[in-house]
Amino acid sequence: MNNRILVTGGAGYIGSHACKALQTAGYEPVVFDNLIYGHPWAVKWGPLIRGDLADPQQIEAALDEVKPAAVMHFAAYAYVGESVTNPAKYYRNNVVGSLNLLDAMRNRSIESLVFSSTCASYGIPRVTPIDESHPQNPINPYGRSKLMIEQAMADYSAAYGLRCVALRYFNAAGADPEAEIGEDHSPETHLIPLVLMAAAGIRDSITVFGRDYDTDDGTCVRDYVHVSDLAQAHVLALQALDQGAESAVYNLGNGTGFSVQQVIDACQRVTGRPIKVVDGPRRAGDPPRLVGDASKIINDLGWSPRYADLDTIVETAWNWTRHHFK
Ligand code: UDP
Repeated sequence: MNNRILVTGGAGYIGSHACKALQTAGYEPVVFDNLIYGHPWAVKWGPLIRGDLADPQQIEAALDEVKPAAVMHFAAYAYVGESVTNPAKYYRNNVVGSLNLLDAMRNRSIESLVFSSTCASYGIPRVTPIDESHPQNPINPYGRSKLMIEQAMADYSAAYGLRCVALRYFNAAGADPEAEIGEDHSPETHLIPLVLMAAAGIRDSITVFGRDYDTDDGTCVRDYVHVSDLAQAHVLALQALDQGAESAVYNLGNGTGFSVQQVIDACQRVTGRPIKVVDGPRRAGDPPRLVGDASKIINDLGWSPRYADLDTIVETAWNWTRHHFK
């Protein structure tokens, strides 16, 4: 049986954790990454092909060389703020790059794809928790770029027999429990790594973006989901496709919301270090509350998050922060 899986963006945060989960499950991940944001050190579970989806010939050559049974597609730019100031970068990379991948797969009759989508495709929620039937009205180019690809995939599924599982993540967080890999963005914009860097003395303080939201303590509420649990969901999606499943979309979240202040409190508890907190203005484009309902993947594919507890998520991230940044 052909167990090779091409993993675009496999040198990145979530993609690298997926590679580890793939190898553990008996697959052979081959990473395709341009290394603009990805790290060579994060590619530990199979070969690395350095290439860019912007160039159709590079992805075609990689598919011809690897002849994968399926593709996992993580490669994308993911800075929401940057997508507003430089949308061209996002549409070209995320949308055109994905279309190049889809067409290269179609021409080679590779029909199984697992795609990284996002809760940012829902926009401002009308109801929470958000399930998959919630309308998708993204409020920034990043979310729109991901939605466009979901739509293209649905159309390619209907017309060309592609079978695609799109996974809409809520807030990916934490690190490999064995600290072999973890989060290392440059620039770092995400809450948990920034708070932990403040705890470690790598940064001076953490700024809370707004305390005047309509939430219990006035700070924004998010649904944090462990990156290794996300990775495991990708393996389940792939196994379902292996067994002939049709195209589907699934949310990935824990269904519990934590405020920015609660995250800072958890980081203080776990690290036992003082963390300097500064109050700042709201960040543009932040919905007050984003919490996901993942019942569908729990029921359909048996997804069972192992690290759903916030303190456990923070512990794995703290362990990584101390190993990696010191
Ligand atoms: N946040 C914050 N200070 C920071 C970074 C983030 O208060 O330095 C808040 C942000 O406004 C949001 C939450 O933390 O409400 C999670 O932000 P993150 O960037 O980690 O993920 P997002 O929800 O934007 O995907």
